Amino acid sequence: MSEPSLKFEILSIDPHCSARRGVLTLPHGVVQTPTFMPVGTRGCVKGLTAEQVRSTGAEIMLGNTYHLALRPGPEVVRHFGGLHGLMRWSYPILTDSGGFQVFSLHGLLKLTEEGVTFRSHIDGSKLQLTPERSIAIQEALGSDIAMVLDEVVGLPSPREKIRSAMERSVRWAARCKQCAQHPYQSQFAIVQGGLEVDLRLECIERLAELDFPGYAIGGLSVGEPPAEMYRILEAITPTMTTQKPRYLMGVGRPQDLLEGIRYGIDMFDCVMPTRNGRNAMAFTTHGPLRLRNLVHQLDHQPIEEGCPCLACRYSRGYIRHLFIAEEMLGPILLSHHNLTYYQRLMAGACEAIAAGQFENYRQKCYQRWNNAVPTM
Ligand SMILES: [Zn+2]
Repeated sequence: MSEPSLKFEILSIDPHCSARRGVLTLPHGVVQTPTFMPVGTRGCVKGLTAEQVRSTGAEIMLGNTYHLALRPGPEVVRHFGGLHGLMRWSYPILTDSGGFQVFSLHGLLKLTEEGVTFRSHIDGSKLQLTPERSIAIQEALGSDIAMVLDEVVGLPSPREKIRSAMERSVRWAARCKQCAQHPYQSQFAIVQGGLEVDLRLECIERLAELDFPGYAIGGLSVGEPPAEMYRILEAITPTMTTQKPRYLMGVGRPQDLLEGIRYGIDMFDCVMPTRNGRNAMAFTTHGPLRLRNLVHQLDHQPIEEGCPCLACRYSRGYIRHLFIAEEMLGPILLSHHNLTYYQRLMAGACEAIAAGQFENYRQKCYQRWNNAVPTM
């Protein structure tokens, strides 16, 4: 059966690497790929209105099922017309399964084939998340793309533990697919397998049999060296179907986005631009700036000449002052700047792939950052 709610078309592939330029059509709009999704953890991207997020160039936003399920709760979100109605964001939304937070927030009580039992970090109540429950919540949230529930293991872990989590993740993916009720929501499956290439490949093959409309790579960028992540991407992306969108979860730094794109990744998300922005760090074409530094005190220049964001209408000196004085405008302005920077980086990548020039673009970005190009 075809997937009427999601259409993915590849417009071009770079002749010198696996970078792809595509268009992802979803119920709430069109997304140019490769794309970066800002993270709206609890119904907003911290500090920014939906209009401000849109003005950075974002075409799709991510929502966190775990946080929204606890507060305000899926039925409250449904009452407001889903996450789109609640946030007044009328463009595509992807929601995660909630699993990553359950496994990483230390509230995990019990893990069985049925699902995970955990303690809410808000009021300590005992709750259960199963594949069926995760999908039911995501259907109430009304996202365009839902993620399947997977078993997340920290790295490093023994190989047998990674294997068993991968196998359970495949069984849970099948249950997620089986229980889907929402006619316009597409589910993405998640490739697991840690840093074990053969387990990753086996996972890709078994998930492909279930025929999902898109595939994510999970369990990377969890503390391993970047070179390890690139090694896995290089080994596994060639075996993933070329026809469907590929999403590298929770990644990452600007250089990780370029490396991911080079290996044929279409979608990314990360809290880094907003989290670092709140900590006075600005990403720029010429590398990061730390706005609390004294060197910026009397500086009239904007963070980045030519940047169309809200922050770059002001001087570095003013933004530094806002952070030193702990004014909330500082974090807001830098979040807007960093998201704008990420979107400009992706727009540049899209343009470069279309022109068959992605490798040049990538090299030039590293040069301007004054960073060494990864040799892999
Ligand atoms: Zn800016």
